Amino acid sequence: MDHGPRTGNKVALTFDADMTDGMLASLRAGRVKSYANLRILDLLERDEVPATFFLTGKWVQRYPDVTRRIADNPRFELANHTYGHAAFTGDCYDLPSQPVNELRGDVAKTFEVIKPYGGRQTRYFRFPGLCHDAATLDALAPLGVTVVDGDVVSGDPFATAWKPLVRAVLDHVRPGSVVIMHVTEANAAMTDEALPHILAGLRERGLVPAPLSEVLAGA
Ligand SMILES: [Zn+2]
Repeated sequence: MDHGPRTGNKVALTFDADMTDGMLASLRAGRVKSYANLRILDLLERDEVPATFFLTGKWVQRYPDVTRRIADNPRFELANHTYGHAAFTGDCYDLPSQPVNELRGDVAKTFEVIKPYGGRQTRYFRFPGLCHDAATLDALAPLGVTVVDGDVVSGDPFATAWKPLVRAVLDHVRPGSVVIMHVTEANAAMTDEALPHILAGLRERGLVPAPLSEVLAGA
């Protein structure tokens, strides 16, 4: 799914929590400080804004306390973004790649990693880089997941300024939209600066952030 019904006034803010072995190595070597942007959580909590987090298993294992904080918030939903942010389609940006026959196990394992945290668990799944094809969708069918891309790409990975993110979101957002952002700090350093402006722009347009489940259901 890319978005919910275009009726009503709700939009979903979604945040991906990527984590690869390469990112873990960067953390260990001290090349980066953090892949968990706590300022985003501070802001969403302060303004009581609902959001949905697509978590990789490796991110959850690296940031258990942050995952708990997300799960403990009744306005936040938890969703699945693979275990190690690999691509299962072959070529997908510069993501590490894994054979498609490992996809189902990978996604099932990620649900097992997320599940103990409780909170608003979902069966939503997002492919890293949004890279999918018929074979990957077939492989996931037995898991009963809903694959969610999104219709508004903020472009926040590796951004060097916040204004283009605000523009990218506010120029394209409509009722039912699913906005894709990242909570990965070092790899998306402008997202927390853009977020207050995005929230203000949504308010001006009469759009209200809601959990992904409500947006997709048109509830
Ligand atoms: Zn991702």
